[in-house]
Amino acid sequence: SSEVDAARAAASQADSDAPTLFDKIVAKQIPATIIYEDEQALAFRDINPQAPVHFLVIPKDRNGLTRLSKMDESHRALVGHLMYVAQLVAKQEGLLPGFRVVINDGPEGCQSVYHLHLHIMGGRQLTWPPG
Ligand code: IMP
Repeated sequence: SSEVDAARAAASQADSDAPTLFDKIVAKQIPATIIYEDEQALAFRDINPQAPVHFLVIPKDRNGLTRLSKMDESHRALVGHLMYVAQLVAKQEGLLPGFRVVINDGPEGCQSVYHLHLHIMGGRQLTWPPG
């Protein structure tokens, strides 16, 4: 279907260790609406929001984590920290009634940027299952 084709096209970037768009956001070479920053993590608003509140949490240093499935033991603390930041910023954004955290992995997961990121969405009643 054209919907599936569009999803594939959106997820067409290859999994490589080349710098990504998000490295440029970390380096502040391209603008983003940054809503949280610490030594390890950055949170900024998604440019194509799927909910009234939609932000991304990324590790500043990707550390080989182009995607979640590249995770090994050495990444456990970092990934835990990203989860911590996700809920902290969700509360900061007023998402007290709830929110959703999503990680897209690989082509079938519809991942388009190969720099690990958590999507946090909320501010409306979400539905299940996702597409
Ligand atoms: P993925 O499909 O899970 O890889 O998610 C990538 C996300 O990055 C998408 O939701 C895009 O809308 C978002 N995105 C792409 N470019 C930018 C940008 O320059 N600023 C903020 N978000 C972006």
